[in-house]
Amino acid sequence: MHDVTRRRLVVQGQVQGVGFRPFVYRLALELGLTGLVRNAPEGVVVEVQGARAGEFRARLEAELPPLARIVGLEETDAEGVAGEAAFRIEASAPGQGHAVLISPDVATCADCLADMADPDNRRFGYPFTNCTNCGPRYTITRSIPYDRATTSMACFPLCEACRAEYENPLDRRFHAQPNACPVCGPRVWLTDRQGARLAEGPQALERLARELAEGAICAVKGLGGFHLACDAANEAAVAELRRRKTRPAKPLAVMVPDLDTARRLAEVSEDEARWLSGRERPIVLLRGRPGSALAQGISPDTGHVGLMLPYTPLHHVLFGALRKLTGPANRAALVMTSGNAGGEPICLGNREALRRLGQLADVFLLHDRDILIRADDSVVRVLPGPNGDGEIQFLRRARGFVPSPVELPEFGDGKAPTVLGLGPELKNTLCLTKGRQAFVGQHIGDMQNLETFGFWGEIREHLQAVLQVRPAALVRDLHPDYLTSQWAQGPEAGGLPVLAVQHHVAHVLAVLAENRATRPVVGLALDGTGYGADGGLWGGEALYVDPDSLEWRRLGHLAPLWLPGGEAAIREPWRIAQGALWSLGERDAGPWPWLKDFRPGSRLVAQMLDKGLNCPETSSCGRLFDAAAALLGLGLAVSYEGQAAMLLEAAQDQDEAGAYECPLLEGEPLVLDTLALLRQVRDDASAGVPVGVVSRRFHLGLVAGLAALAARAAEVAGVRAVALSGGCMLNRTLATELPRLLAERGVEVLTHRLLPPGDGCISLGQAVYGLRRLALGRAQEQGEGRNFL
Ligand code: ZN
Ligand code: ZN
Ligand code: FE
Repeated sequence: MHDVTRRRLVVQGQVQGVGFRPFVYRLALELGLTGLVRNAPEGVVVEVQGARAGEFRARLEAELPPLARIVGLEETDAEGVAGEAAFRIEASAPGQGHAVLISPDVATCADCLADMADPDNRRFGYPFTNCTNCGPRYTITRSIPYDRATTSMACFPLCEACRAEYENPLDRRFHAQPNACPVCGPRVWLTDRQGARLAEGPQALERLARELAEGAICAVKGLGGFHLACDAANEAAVAELRRRKTRPAKPLAVMVPDLDTARRLAEVSEDEARWLSGRERPIVLLRGRPGSALAQGISPDTGHVGLMLPYTPLHHVLFGALRKLTGPANRAALVMTSGNAGGEPICLGNREALRRLGQLADVFLLHDRDILIRADDSVVRVLPGPNGDGEIQFLRRARGFVPSPVELPEFGDGKAPTVLGLGPELKNTLCLTKGRQAFVGQHIGDMQNLETFGFWGEIREHLQAVLQVRPAALVRDLHPDYLTSQWAQGPEAGGLPVLAVQHHVAHVLAVLAENRATRPVVGLALDGTGYGADGGLWGGEALYVDPDSLEWRRLGHLAPLWLPGGEAAIREPWRIAQGALWSLGERDAGPWPWLKDFRPGSRLVAQMLDKGLNCPETSSCGRLFDAAAALLGLGLAVSYEGQAAMLLEAAQDQDEAGAYECPLLEGEPLVLDTLALLRQVRDDASAGVPVGVVSRRFHLGLVAGLAALAARAAEVAGVRAVALSGGCMLNRTLATELPRLLAERGVEVLTHRLLPPGDGCISLGQAVYGLRRLALGRAQEQGEGRNFL
């Protein structure tokens, strides 16, 4: 059989659970080819035979299904097979499929919505409708290969009709692992706080809609966990939800049924509309319309509001029920916030929800499809890019994006071992590498309670299970006391080698990895506080970082501020303001009007400052924002991280064009005299200049100073590029103005596009540090004579 063309293709990438094999099957039929497709450890293997086999590859690449993504494709000639009569899809054997990626969860597709809206369809109104193009993936998958048996759908045997779809390669539900219908699939029911059933099936969702319309607070089991929901237009319900959740001010996310409703509540650009309705369905931060129907209590600190569109069939059915109740003209909007008590991870199981949310919700919408791994909603916003087009910025990366990998640049020698980045203390994520791909897990949260630490452990195990790799080394933060650092040194870590990398160096390495940059840069890490290499509290740093040799130096930083009372100063920014006043020579800050509200604390702070007791210093940019805000009487005491900065940002008078002086002091290291900014804030505030004007001048002065610092540091280090990272890059003025000013100075600017600039990116920086470090170590062992730190 040498006269027959047979080609063998090995495809790697996101090619499971996304309709890839049926697509291959259809294509083979169209081209009149025989052969096979199967999952193998090296990827999906396709063999095609026939006269038109040579056309197969080009068509495959050009017509890929929407969710599939190819990262590697090898095509070779194969020996022809005599007597082959058909093209077949071979079942995957357990333990196979090592090179394929699990897809993130995908919002309900238009075809499935049409099925659900059709009274003659057997899935009419069914809240678990899905197909190969949509539905749950990552959150219901235990391990690979991605087959029904390894998902939480394993306990729902397919009915005859569903099985026929599942086995028909020409059906939209061919091998759709979560395939289900009202006969064989998961069901919903509604309970009270004690777990007693109030309604089932369609009636449960109708009753839920009624409860919401009447102002109740409802726990709703979703895709990656429970939401707490209430009517977003009902001021009293929103206030009650905040009271029960002990969340006085932090913005609440709102789900709206469609783009039209989103446009009534907020300004929505074309880019923002695309993100809102895209298959990832993140929460998109938008500029709210003043006087919209939303309750004032939704986001009291900013003019922005986080909106998202329905992403599961259940959400669509719920909005349908609300529309029936209130009439087509009334477009409902629902608060949909993570179902958790403050600071804890999102709830996942039915019993867990009744136990943990019993005091928070009035009724519970439950269902019997298990969520295997928690995933909060992702949060993004669109920034005007340098060319005027929108650039996405992540605030939180979770559902819809995880576990899509970051493709790394060439690190090391190609035989990259697996490395696990353990993440930071706050806004933790984990990062597991596999070859040249880095898998950053979903947002975990602040590692300050056992529940969150437990969630961290779940994700660690889950990532290893769905990627089928074990780490050869761990990378932790330099801080010795973090829970993650202690875990790494403890018995549970199994004695794996542990590397440590400084927090802000990890920030810079993360931006570099996202941009596949391999040359040295100056990184500007504008952050809260992180443990410095000298044991101090860093957070406003200009660092030289060489991602190849891993050599780094601190070239500059912001002027230090006092943190009277340590951690307490982070919750009570008035302390930092008083410390700044003390540094400016006001040893008695008594006359400051807002300090009288904090007697006798402020007298104590004065003594601390005088004696230098419990007053650590920090170069943190976040604390600088806190100080400036508090000098203006904003965010004197805060209930969530970044609140003071957010208030200060929102207060800016955009018509003001003046900027405060922010001198750069030469030396090693360079020091940006940010205390001078605070002096001008103080002077103008004392002189009665309006808060909006002072805030704007502060922002513009800081941005200009930071650009000068970065440009000078780049000059000193002899590099052309500046990388921007750190939680302060979430400040809209910094995020838009700083890259612009740097570009004006002829500096190449690298920013985060795939991960948040805040601490959600740290685990990636840690992981690439580990990969490179191990590669350098091997090179040295092999006598290549490379030196590294
Ligand atoms: Zn679908
Ligand atoms: Zn069925
Ligand atoms: Fe950080």
